Amino acid sequence: MKTLYVRIVLIALLIGIISSILGLLATNIHYQMNLKTYYEEKLVHIAKEIRTLYSKSPELSMDDYFPHMANTGFQIFLTDGTHSHFYGRAFGNTELAPERVQKVLNGEVYYGAISNNSRITIAGYFENSLHNSVGIPIQISGKPYALFIKPDLTQQIGEVRNIMALLLTFTALFSIVLIIIFTRYIVKPIRSLTTATQKIVNGEYEFRLDVNRKDEIGELARHFAHMSESLKQLDEMRQEFVANVSHEIQSPLTSIQGFVHEILNEETNPNDKERYLHIIDEESRRLSSLSKQLLTLASLDKESGVIKPSLYRLDEQIRQIVIANEWLWADKEIMIELDLAEIKVRADQQLLHLVWTNLLVNAIKFSEHGSSIQINIRIEQQIIVTIQDHGIGIPEEELPHIFDRFYKVDKARNRSRSGSGLGLSIVQQIIRLHRGTIDVQSQIGIGTTFIIQLPHL
Ligand code: ADP
Repeated sequence: MKTLYVRIVLIALLIGIISSILGLLATNIHYQMNLKTYYEEKLVHIAKEIRTLYSKSPELSMDDYFPHMANTGFQIFLTDGTHSHFYGRAFGNTELAPERVQKVLNGEVYYGAISNNSRITIAGYFENSLHNSVGIPIQISGKPYALFIKPDLTQQIGEVRNIMALLLTFTALFSIVLIIIFTRYIVKPIRSLTTATQKIVNGEYEFRLDVNRKDEIGELARHFAHMSESLKQLDEMRQEFVANVSHEIQSPLTSIQGFVHEILNEETNPNDKERYLHIIDEESRRLSSLSKQLLTLASLDKESGVIKPSLYRLDEQIRQIVIANEWLWADKEIMIELDLAEIKVRADQQLLHLVWTNLLVNAIKFSEHGSSIQINIRIEQQIIVTIQDHGIGIPEEELPHIFDRFYKVDKARNRSRSGSGLGLSIVQQIIRLHRGTIDVQSQIGIGTTFIIQLPHL
């Protein structure tokens, strides 16, 4: 397996090689199209200068003049068609077609690089060959000669060539070293992310990530840290939930076991036995309602497809629920005051039935004998349902938690009004699924008001 690190290094090197090749190609094209002609014209101009200077010093012999000219940085070839004279650094390749020499002797100018069009690379420019020179006719001691010249690159730009070669070598070397070092820097956070992922898989949530980087990897690390925080919370919630469920199941079971034991004891008197049977009945009802509530919560948590909306009268629904629970409020001589505006809603009738029942039963449960409960429906931008009791109220510091699963306010005061602490979380979840909100206002000893807002239709 190639690691990301190796891949990036290889890709960077490949980019370096490809761009060098492309650069060379582009330079070649530019040389072919623009520079070649310009260089040759310049060279022909120099050759003409050499000729002019020679014609102005007729007393100088060929061998006196041309070696000095060659020393200024040229390779020179002189011929009358039969005798050849070379001055300056020797040509590596002295081949030159005789008809080309003849043309120059006849008065034409020879452009080496332009006529050798087959050589398309810039390498031709550096080639030490006679056919790459330029040639002009010249008169020496009244005889026609052909003068070929070519810049002696070793002499003219030898040092520059060395410097360029050194520059290129160092640039390439430093690029490779820097690519190797900086790729490590790019890949390091990805390695930390991989380690963090492995830790999460093992249930560990403590790791360090560089979330301060201002690039895509930094953003990924930030999202990852956020995700792991959510996972951690979810994991904690799951553990807490399981612990709560076990506790809620364990306590009624323990009490049932204890009372069954007492009933089986022959010494227990029949009156006590009957009382214990009633308690067992109550505890088993609690267990049954707990399992129903857990099932409801599990289905509500699925979210999609849970709601089966229908169009119905909300005020009618609440009125029926109040009537259905008459045995509860009438028993405590509680007065229920209804002020319900007529309104149709499109909602899940069964789920909202659960909401109003839960809130009403809680209001009755936590109200004193003979008090009153007001239920209103107001129609504003939203449909507002309020359920107000004048019962024991909820302490301010507990209010933020009452919608949490299994949360019971001050367990001691509720012992006689046993519940699982799931009711309000179910209510909140149902209202949320209907895109509504639920708020609570409460004062200890004065009462509690639940305010539910639902969108119209
Ligand atoms: P439970 O099923 O135990 O009633 P809920 O989730 O319905 O659980 O309620 C959570 C807690 O909020 C209850 O234990 C209770 O202490 C408090 N509570 C709910 N409604 C009222 C109310 N109308 N008045 C006072 N306290 C309430």
